[in-house]
Amino acid sequence: MDEKEREKGFNDYQTILDGLKVSFLEKWKSKKQESAKLDDFDRFRTLGTGAFGRVVLVKYKPSSTYYAMKILEKGKLVRMKQIEHTSNEKRVLQSLKFPFVVYMEFFFKDNSYVYMVLPFINGGEMFSHLRNMGKFTEPLSRFYAAQVALALEYLHHCGLVYRDLKPENILIDKNGYLKVTDFGFCKLVDGRTWTLCGTPEYLAPEVILSKGYGKSVDWWSFGVLIFEMNAGFPPFYAHDPMKIYEKIVAGKYKHVSHFGEDLRDILKNLLQVDLTKRYGNLKDGPMDIKKHRWFRTTDWILMYYQKVEPTFVPKCTGPSDTSNFDHYEEEQLTLDTIDRYAKEFIDF
Ligand code: AMP
Repeated sequence: MDEKEREKGFNDYQTILDGLKVSFLEKWKSKKQESAKLDDFDRFRTLGTGAFGRVVLVKYKPSSTYYAMKILEKGKLVRMKQIEHTSNEKRVLQSLKFPFVVYMEFFFKDNSYVYMVLPFINGGEMFSHLRNMGKFTEPLSRFYAAQVALALEYLHHCGLVYRDLKPENILIDKNGYLKVTDFGFCKLVDGRTWTLCGTPEYLAPEVILSKGYGKSVDWWSFGVLIFEMNAGFPPFYAHDPMKIYEKIVAGKYKHVSHFGEDLRDILKNLLQVDLTKRYGNLKDGPMDIKKHRWFRTTDWILMYYQKVEPTFVPKCTGPSDTSNFDHYEEEQLTLDTIDRYAKEFIDF
């Protein structure tokens, strides 16, 4: 592709993004009604757990379709001061529509839990594949990185900061493409925000230093992700989280010997402590990343339309195959006879 065509591709894509933003904002402003109830689903096994609940494979009886149901305990959310994050997560999920992020098909609540029902992405977490393979080849890392870059660009264009990028939150679909999941920390931000959230190895220096921060934090985590995919381990690592933070704030990491020059250069510009120099945060926003040499071979439009052949496709035998997910201890749902937290979850 010559320079002119590439430039036209970027302009065309901007029009797509603007349309996606309009549709996001329409859904963001509209209040949807609960669209299902627990009895509509057969429940199978746990696919993953989080701090406030679990994600379970379910079948929606009316259509015999499999979904991933995120079940969060109201009591726990109240104790851990996560009410606002949860209502926010639901509102974000109901407004999203993009090839590389999950969305929400149904939601509802009862006396004890809140439920968000998402498409079941059955290739498993990027985390598991990365640990199994040790590290990804550079082309596979670039293939995933391109999709994450498009996902972050989309979220930021809609006004959202994601704040929890890591391989555990990236699911691989049966077609080999990825979907970013877990919007628990995702927030519509006009300017800056201050909450300390995220995962130690992926935290940006400005979050650790309790400075107000914005979209720049996602581009830092994006750098951590690119490093980890290519190396098999994150750039800032220690057993003690305090030691991790010291390394992050100093911005000190060692390249791995097999890293090529282009890869080193994009990492240098993403894992950049100085916000006035960090790629993604400069006047051209994500364009500095999309036009970087490391992505020279990436056709962004073909990627958006999922027309690039993936070099790795997870093994999936059918729509209910859970073999790509670890096993977890199962727990019965215990439904309270009274709704103790009706007021707290009025917005859910
Ligand atoms: P979360 O609390 O949203 O991070 O979800 C916890 C774990 O559940 C994830 O790390 C995944 O392993 C799994 N999970 C979440 N959403 C889905 C989904 N839509 N399809 C399949 N697995 C999922």
